[in-house]
Amino acid sequence: MKKFLTFNKDYYYCNKCGKIFDNSEDILFVEDDSPRGFCSESCIETFFRPMVRLFEKIEENLRAKYNLQEEESLKYLEFPNFLDELLKKPQEIWALENNLQEKYYFIFSSFKDRKGKDFYLVSICLFYQNRPSFLFLVTATYSEEFIAEFRAGVKLNKNLPMLPATRDAKEAELLGMVERKKTFLLTELLKLRDNNDISFYEFSEFESFVDPTIDGPDEVYSFIDEAGDKIRTYIKAFHSDQGAFYYYVLCLKTGKKSDKGLIPIFSFPSRDGKIYRKFSQGSLVSGNLKS
Ligand SMILES: [Zn+2]
Repeated sequence: MKKFLTFNKDYYYCNKCGKIFDNSEDILFVEDDSPRGFCSESCIETFFRPMVRLFEKIEENLRAKYNLQEEESLKYLEFPNFLDELLKKPQEIWALENNLQEKYYFIFSSFKDRKGKDFYLVSICLFYQNRPSFLFLVTATYSEEFIAEFRAGVKLNKNLPMLPATRDAKEAELLGMVERKKTFLLTELLKLRDNNDISFYEFSEFESFVDPTIDGPDEVYSFIDEAGDKIRTYIKAFHSDQGAFYYYVLCLKTGKKSDKGLIPIFSFPSRDGKIYRKFSQGSLVSGNLKS
């Protein structure tokens, strides 16, 4: 490629697949004080997978040691708000550093379960910009003995400057998340699609239907997706010179009450009833649809 033909540029490469970049802004970093960078989420996951397996194995052994294989606390892993709180403001942080100055962080917080009993949520992770980035392991326990095993390395001051994520970092994180959801939804859609339906290559010709669909939907559904995020599906029927079709807009609900709390992730047209059944799932939202 032309842009790679001179030496007067900085070059970077993905530490997993080797893809070359001439702009450091395109690289994803997950560790503070480390030049290790990647081209994609999937390269990050593949690169660290052996360490994920190792930590999972250690957890398994510890659970066997204390006879904790079936702990009831584990069901709280499915509640994203606990994890969210742990990642934002861990009550305890330990760091284990190896001879190559690679650091693994162990973060804990305790929470009350439904019966008012304390349980711990713990994660082994990397830190980037003073915040947890890549998570090797997340688990939950009632056991003080089990949790004590995770106090590895040195304890850091709890008031470690957990810098609030900068606006840019937050935005980048959000964009990354939207991209991942979009890819996931598109994959789902392409699996279901019928050959007679409107082709993927024609989707861009229908983009003018996004706003009318959000502004005056026939139906709106709300559901929680695999990552625990609230998604709203806006559906509207149209008759145009392309024939009759439904237009779908899936939006991420960010918790704010205003319209601005809705981020469109993915939109597409379809004539297929099978697609309609798939994408009209969740609870039908009624009333003022835009709030
Ligand atoms: Zn890569």
